[in-house]
Amino acid sequence: MNTPAEIIAKLPATFEAAKATGNLFFFPSTVHTHVDDFGISYEIRLCPALQHKPPLPTPHFDADPEKEKKKPDPFAPPYNEKLLIGELRGEEEEDQYVLLLNKFSVVPYHFLMVTKKFQSQSSPLMPPELAQAYKLLDAAHRTGQNMFAFYNCGDLSGASQPHKHIQFLPVPAEEVSPPIERLAREQQLETIDRPFTISKLPYANHVFRLPSDLAMQSTEQLEDTLCSAFLQLLDLTISTVRHNADYPSGNPSYNVLLTRSHIHVIPRRFENHTLQATGEELSVNALGAAGMLLVKSEPEMEAVKAEGLGKILRSVGLESVHELQVQTGASAQEADT
Ligand code: AMP
Repeated sequence: MNTPAEIIAKLPATFEAAKATGNLFFFPSTVHTHVDDFGISYEIRLCPALQHKPPLPTPHFDADPEKEKKKPDPFAPPYNEKLLIGELRGEEEEDQYVLLLNKFSVVPYHFLMVTKKFQSQSSPLMPPELAQAYKLLDAAHRTGQNMFAFYNCGDLSGASQPHKHIQFLPVPAEEVSPPIERLAREQQLETIDRPFTISKLPYANHVFRLPSDLAMQSTEQLEDTLCSAFLQLLDLTISTVRHNADYPSGNPSYNVLLTRSHIHVIPRRFENHTLQATGEELSVNALGAAGMLLVKSEPEMEAVKAEGLGKILRSVGLESVHELQVQTGASAQEADT
């Protein structure tokens, strides 16, 4: 077992060794800023090398759990020792996690926290998972590194693996990236203990600002604080989904972003967007929903810019019913924004 600080400390050497030995494939990319019609600045990451990586089919997590179990699971043991960073354990014996480098890496040090025992990617985040994720972000911050965590939950969220995994991605500075975290930080709140929405964004999003002393809290308090925030956001997500008459039955799909300052939950209606200019399908996951879209070619990037990232995210997300939720006090009460 390791501590979160040990996991963070092991990242550089493990990444370099995995890459050098051909166990990790690194795809270079360039980042382009794009301001859309709504005046929001997004990041588009262009990675031409990904054209040669075959897309993984989207799993249908709930369809037939027995069939799902028979498919090869890259997050089950035995682990590739070169991708293995270490293991973490929560307060309870059953809360065990394995930390693996992303085998197909576009950003150096992109890593995953997977449940040691199989759990479904369509299940909500549990208190020990939220606490471990937060501790990893805090451990990174203490060594001057910035990262955020994300979770693609459900069939329509853009996930490619059905075994529960939270992902961690380094960013240059947490004040500016990912783009929707920057917008959350700019938002003036009357009270910080209620969910709010970033009303500038043209799609439903639910955000909770975390207390600034969170890193000082005991594990039990940390779990309580994060879980209470997440459940309020989940309530609002379910309320948003219920306003969409065509929403498929079953568990809702959504993307989660966790930073040291906020939890964001973005409800999802579709996994893919069909680009108007090229007719190509663009898969959108939590990174896209965070305002960091990945594209594989210049024409695809131009098509995204022409259409506007806000419109694309609206097409794979849901209409915001924030005003209605505030008026009716639906589920948790959202702050006036
Ligand atoms: P998602 O597509 O969001 O479900 O995330 C799954 C991630 O796991 C992707 O970014 C893949 O690149 C990565 N991945 C796939 N196979 C492996 C593997 N064998 N070991 C580590 N990471 C993997």
